Amino acid sequence: MQFDAELLLLAMAPVFLACIGWEAWHLRRTRPGARLYSWRDTLCNAALALMQQAADKLAWLAIIPVYAFFYDRYRVHTWQAGWASFALLFVAQDLLYYVFHRCSHRVRWLWAAHVVHHSSERMNFSTAFRQSLMYPVAGMWLFWIPLAVLGFPPKQIVTIVLINLGFQFFVHTQAIGKFGGKLGWLEYVFNTPSIHRVHHARNDRYIDRNYAGVLVIWDRLFGSYVDEDPLESPVYGIVEPLDTYNPLKATFHEWASMARDFASVRGSHNKLRALFAPPAWAADYHARRVAASRDVHAPNQINDNNEMAAFSARRRP
Ligand SMILES: [Zn+2]
Ligand SMILES: [Zn+2]
Repeated sequence: MQFDAELLLLAMAPVFLACIGWEAWHLRRTRPGARLYSWRDTLCNAALALMQQAADKLAWLAIIPVYAFFYDRYRVHTWQAGWASFALLFVAQDLLYYVFHRCSHRVRWLWAAHVVHHSSERMNFSTAFRQSLMYPVAGMWLFWIPLAVLGFPPKQIVTIVLINLGFQFFVHTQAIGKFGGKLGWLEYVFNTPSIHRVHHARNDRYIDRNYAGVLVIWDRLFGSYVDEDPLESPVYGIVEPLDTYNPLKATFHEWASMARDFASVRGSHNKLRALFAPPAWAADYHARRVAASRDVHAPNQINDNNEMAAFSARRRP
């Protein structure tokens, strides 16, 4: 039987929808009044998923030949199909996902696509549907090229990328607490709902933490892990809130903001910062512009050099 790997996530749609139905029902019984689902938010998430799936299907047509080029020309090994090569592919791709995800939170060009996943102020299974059709433009696919060089054929690369994303659906929930007791070890090895709730939070102690795809060992190894604190509930969403359920605005607002900032800052260094600095640079820049425009004694144009110096002294917004 010929299996079309690119359709893996669509094939899993009935499972995803069943989980959303169960979670909405369960939370309404156990946390009445919490309103963890809203129709407008969920419909926006579903629209974003469909837009991204359509764009991805097209993008793979262009990207698979690139992987084939690296696989044919530069692969360092030819793997026999089997569990050992599958395990290596799984671990290598998950590490690359960690790198991609961390870069997506630290480089504005990548954040412009990834922000879609974070801009809802709710956290439920349908939040996993929030994906951007702009990932191929941002260059997510570049991060998987090492897999072709390691000797994995393009079809296997596409399959493992989608398996990783498919797993991540299940960590987007407030219906499952932190694992403890006999299952406590899961929190040390795998990305779990508790770990991923932290990732979606904008509390100062949680922001830019827990980048795991499937395995959380990378966060623990590279110092980006933080525990969910029972005394500090996650506050979901982004630093500069997105006040809309329009999926097109959700997809393009950060690209538009980046273009405006690129046009308004002076000097090539600052223009590069507008594109590639951490997203905190933009939040800080916007806050200073607003402050400058309100202050009648301040010049209308803020000084970009002072701006950058102030930014570099701050780690986060
Ligand atoms: Zn993220
Ligand atoms: Zn997520």
